[in-house]
Amino acid sequence: LSEATMIEIKNLNKIYLKGKKNMVHALNNINLKIDDRETVAIIGESGAGKSTLLHIMSCIDNFDGEYYLDNIDINKLSESKKSKLRSSKIGIVLQDFALIDDFTVFENVMTPLYFNKKIKDKKGSVMRALKKTGIASLKAKKVSQLSGGQKQRVAISRALVTSPEYIFADEPTGSLDSKTSDEIIKMLFELNSNGITIVIVTHNLEIANQCHHIIEIKDGNIIKDICS
Ligand code: ADP
Ligand code: MG
Repeated sequence: LSEATMIEIKNLNKIYLKGKKNMVHALNNINLKIDDRETVAIIGESGAGKSTLLHIMSCIDNFDGEYYLDNIDINKLSESKKSKLRSSKIGIVLQDFALIDDFTVFENVMTPLYFNKKIKDKKGSVMRALKKTGIASLKAKKVSQLSGGQKQRVAISRALVTSPEYIFADEPTGSLDSKTSDEIIKMLFELNSNGITIVIVTHNLEIANQCHHIIEIKDGNIIKDICS
């Protein structure tokens, strides 16, 4: 592993519905560091704040405090700069796939490229991503016709299509049987060995124990932060 810290979060707080009666302090003074090329597991009970933290790391949600990604101060970026950063560095695999059922596999994986001006060979990029996840032969199928494991491969292909440096995956094996789950995790680790930093939210301790770095959250607080 390189010594370089690529993610640094300092005194980060997330309050939903700030100022309202039903406001939620979802993350409470979070501090953490993630090195380049780590595999990181974020664990904790339901409602602990795992997805909130993952969304913030993926630069799709705002927060109070400091977050540096590759030394870029995320809270100082405009929305348009943030969206450029996302499309150049970040791949996101959301909980329950978040695919468009009526689109084909190819069309789903293409979606992050519609507004991407850097990538010229869009079709080639989609096909390369589909080959990496082993589903090139499914490119013309509608997502509604696929199994859960195939859908997760589509979601990972869509995260890969921009050649990201980071992949943030929210319970990527949550709804899969154990064999398919093993295949998906193996694939994420392979991507890591090719240089991508991987952050996985998971309930599965067997998966967490395979990661370099385990962060446990409870009620919005980090209660364990272990690097192996
Ligand atoms: P986890 O992923 O660990 O299950 P979440 O990050 O989804 O937890 O949620 C943490 C807390 O924040 C929970 O109490 C949840 O109800 C609350 N929460 C999450 N999203 C929102 C939202 N958009 N508005 C208000 N509260 C939210
Ligand atoms: Mg969640």
